[in-house]
Amino acid sequence: MSDNCLFCKIIEGIIPCTKVYEDDDFLAFNDINPAAPVHILVVPKRHVHSLQTISAEDAAWLGKMLALAPEIARLGGCRPGHEGGFRVVINNGLDGGQEINHLHMHVLGGERPWQNRAAPAA
Ligand code: AMP
Ligand code: ZN
Repeated sequence: MSDNCLFCKIIEGIIPCTKVYEDDDFLAFNDINPAAPVHILVVPKRHVHSLQTISAEDAAWLGKMLALAPEIARLGGCRPGHEGGFRVVINNGLDGGQEINHLHMHVLGGERPWQNRAAPAA
């Protein structure tokens, strides 16, 4: 737990979230400002700033976090298989667009109706 870390407070239950998945090492919850029909954040329960602060010893739990993505996408309602799928994003540091300084993996998906719109008439 890191003082003044929003995601640590969510992990501690001090700030509420809509939980999608939890195990001993990770919590996954809906993003409060979704950028897609499915937008879930997966956070390690241990406070880690970003990929900028990890090292080779972190490979095992990072691999586990990545391996959780398909199951979390499925729980969130992403369609399976080639026609469905999801996107994984990890922002790191200010130049990387990171707003919350507790490492987190965005899992984004769902149908994208805006991609099926007919092209505007010329
Ligand atoms: P990033 O820019 O990668 O640091 O992403 C931070 C994400 O956290 C943004 O997509 C926010 O919408 C999301 N967020 C901020 N506050 C909360 C909250 N209380 N519960 C859930 N998601 C949040
Ligand atoms: Zn934290």
